[in-house]
Amino acid sequence: MSKFSNYNFSSQKVLVRVDFNVPLNEQFEITDDTRMTATQPTIEKILSDGGSVILMSHLGRPKDGPTDKYSLKHLVSHLKSLLGDVKVEFTNDCIGQEAIDKSATLKSGEVLLLENLRFYKEEEKGDKSFAEKLSKLGDVYVNDAFGTAHRAHASTSVIADFFTSDKKMFGLLMEAEVVSAEKVLHKAEKPFAAIIGGAKVSDKILIIENLLNRATDIIIGGGMAYTFWKAQGKQIGNSLCEDDRLELALEILAKAKSLGVNIHLPVDSTIADKFAADAQTSNCASDQIPSGWMGLDIGQKAIADFSEVILKSKTILWNGPMGVFEMKKFQNGTKSIALAVAEATSKGAFSLVGGGDSVAAINKFNLADKVSYVSTGGGAMLEYFEGKVLPGIAAIKK
Ligand code: AMP
Repeated sequence: MSKFSNYNFSSQKVLVRVDFNVPLNEQFEITDDTRMTATQPTIEKILSDGGSVILMSHLGRPKDGPTDKYSLKHLVSHLKSLLGDVKVEFTNDCIGQEAIDKSATLKSGEVLLLENLRFYKEEEKGDKSFAEKLSKLGDVYVNDAFGTAHRAHASTSVIADFFTSDKKMFGLLMEAEVVSAEKVLHKAEKPFAAIIGGAKVSDKILIIENLLNRATDIIIGGGMAYTFWKAQGKQIGNSLCEDDRLELALEILAKAKSLGVNIHLPVDSTIADKFAADAQTSNCASDQIPSGWMGLDIGQKAIADFSEVILKSKTILWNGPMGVFEMKKFQNGTKSIALAVAEATSKGAFSLVGGGDSVAAINKFNLADKVSYVSTGGGAMLEYFEGKVLPGIAAIKK
C-alpha cells in the first residue's frame, strides 16, 4: 500500500470510498454533516495535487434498488458548499455508461459523486464483478470510510484486489483511525487503562476478553458493573443485571486475577427509586443497594478510585458511559471520568474514545478536543477492539 500524504495525485483519477451515510430530515436536509467534513481533508489534498476525485458511498439501507429517499443527490449542494470553488458532478447510477463517461471526462480539480452504492445488492454481497466495474472508474483507490471498514463489501474491500499495492491506500481519516487504534491495541505504552461502560455485559464481553491480554487496568462502570457485583453474591437492588451472565462475570474476574490485570468496579453508586429524570436519588455502596432502588451512576468514591487509575495511565481506551448520562441527575460519573481522561491526556497520556455513547458523552461535555482521538467509526472501532480483522483494513494492506 502507498502512504496517502506522500502520494502525488496530479492528473490521477482517484476513486475514494467515503462514508457519506449522513442523517437527513424529511426535507432531505443534512442534520449532521460530521461524516462529510471528516473526510474533507482527503478530498482537498487530492484536488490541490491536481487530481480528480470520484466519490462513492452508501446512504441508509435501501432494500429494493433505487429509492429517492436514499439518493446521494440530496448531498450534492452541501458538498459543493463545503468544497467551495470546485465543480461537483453527480451520476444517477454508480456503474454503467453515465458513470464511465462522466469519470472519463472529469478534469483535474473536479469532483464526481456516484449514486448510492447500495442501490445494487451486489455491494453488500461483496460481488466481484460489481467491484471490478467500480474499479474501472479510477486509476487509484483510496479508502476513507472507516465506519464501514468492518464490512467485506464490494466498495470497501473486494475492490482493492483490482488495484496494485502502489495504487491503493487509506485516506487521511481512515489512516488516523487505524493509527490510533493500533497505538492502543498493539503499541500501548503501559500502564494501559481500559474504561468500559454502558448497559450490558453481553455487548462488551468480546472487548473485555481481548483487553484482558493487553490492559494493565480494566475499569468497569455503567449498568454492566452490577452483574459483576451480583455474581459475587452482593445486593444490587433493582439495578440492571444479566442473570445469564453471572458465571461469565466470575470467569472474567478469575481470568483477570490469573493474568495480573486489575479490574476496578465502582465501590459506590448514585441510586434512584425509578428509572426517570425526576427520580429520588441517594448514594450508597454498590454492593448493598436496597430493594426498590437501582444504581444509575457511579458514586463519588468510585469517581475518585477510577480517576486515580486514569491519572497514572499512559494509554487510555474509553468505551461506554459510566451511568445514564442522558439524564442530568446521573451524568456526573461520566462527566468526571471524561474530565479525568482529559487531564491524563494533558499530562502526556494517549487517549482514544470510541464506540457510540462514549463519543456522544465526550461531545456533550465539550471535551472532544481534550482527548487524543475520538473515533468516527462506531461499529468498526468496536470490532477492532474485539480483536477482529477488519476487511477494509486488510484489503488495503494485502
Ligand atoms: P452501550 O450502548 O452499551 O454503551 O450503553 C449505553 C447506555 O447505557 C446509555 O444509554 C446509558 O444510559 C446506559 N446506562 C449506563 N449506565 C446505566 C445504568 N447504571 N443502568 C442502566 N443503564 C445504564
